[in-house]
Amino acid sequence: MTTTEVQTVAARAVDAVKSYGTGDAAVHALAGVTVDFPQHRFTAIMGPSGSGKSTLMQCVAGLDRLTSGSVFIGDTNLETLDKTQLTLLRRDRLGFIFQQYNLIPTLSAEENILLPLTLAGEDPNREWFDTIVDTVGMRDRLKNLPSQLSGGQQQRVAVARALVPRPDIVFADEPTGALDSSTGIEILTFMRRAVDESGQTIVMVTHDPHAASYADNVLFLADGQIIDEMAEPTTDRVLDRMKRFEG
Ligand code: ADP
Repeated sequence: MTTTEVQTVAARAVDAVKSYGTGDAAVHALAGVTVDFPQHRFTAIMGPSGSGKSTLMQCVAGLDRLTSGSVFIGDTNLETLDKTQLTLLRRDRLGFIFQQYNLIPTLSAEENILLPLTLAGEDPNREWFDTIVDTVGMRDRLKNLPSQLSGGQQQRVAVARALVPRPDIVFADEPTGALDSSTGIEILTFMRRAVDESGQTIVMVTHDPHAASYADNVLFLADGQIIDEMAEPTTDRVLDRMKRFEG
């Protein structure tokens, strides 16, 4: 990147606060988070259990509302949208990958992958569909039901489903949490390729230092605040940093 190039922001949180309860019993899941998620980058969010990782992702992805502060997807302030507009924005501009694959059991792999477009009444770009399906290696399993696929294959279907509509951002919550390590590596490698070769933007919550090492940048959360960042992470450096926070 040259110095004159301005990094475009895919999503942004500004002074994000999310509280549960009131008074002395209040829990501040987010205690004032300001962060940019740059376009065409892979960002990992790490931190101990209860540090606010899921809350941050849910609020930035428009699945939950902040108590105060703002979230932007591109230039759109989510606070200005009503429920229907928010649903449409999520449908048209965001993709989701969860630990549990959330596939529809009665639909084939292909129908599951195409479901977001089917629901939006849109025709898939067949070339892009083929590229994604070949990259996740699911070409010969497209007619199978989820129950006929391994966990890793089901997650590949879920990854393809998130990428085929070409969302502005994909949000992934512990996407490899339910997978054995070699299958997890396949999924992470594919997510990395989606960023490098297709310009996808990915935000991933994880507690796994190895998973985080696939990202361009790692944000470390503690007690609802971003306490550190790391560019070009490696597993060892992330592990080291985590140890320091615990000590
Ligand atoms: P993480 O994903 O890092 O484990 P979370 O974002 O799930 O953390 O939770 C952050 C904090 O907010 C925790 O203390 C959690 O108990 C609290 N929290 C999350 N959701 C709720 C809720 N619906 N009601 C009350 N407290 C909640």
